[in-house]
Amino acid sequence: MPATQFIRITSAFSLVGAVNVTLEFALNDRGQPVICGELHLRATAQCQRCLETAHFELNSVLAHEVEDEYRTKSDTGNTLFDLAAFIEDECILTFPISAMHPAGACIPPGDPALIAGGGPNPFDVLTSLRQNER
Ligand SMILES: [Zn+2]
Repeated sequence: MPATQFIRITSAFSLVGAVNVTLEFALNDRGQPVICGELHLRATAQCQRCLETAHFELNSVLAHEVEDEYRTKSDTGNTLFDLAAFIEDECILTFPISAMHPAGACIPPGDPALIAGGGPNPFDVLTSLRQNER
């Protein structure tokens, strides 16, 4: 399914290429329609730690009862399933909560001495002020 069909995936993540989806439709023990399958996608986002572009390759396994929010009625009264909205919601749920490179893979921009823990501690001046009071 081409990513250009999705309109709500716009903010933090950008899809790269097509979203690959495999779905199976069936009835569960209670006669409810269910969807099972897998979703594979690639995306990019600005890393919230280093502000560079981070690449994500995400996979998700799906197993859901068909929820009413994806059902609509056609002009002829038939019940339709909004597959695009379902897949788009699954993509959104697959994205990580925060867009970042893996821990330790990048450092925030700024003073490298402070990031590395070297250099003078900016709070040392407070310690010297307290010592001068005594
Ligand atoms: Zn990063």
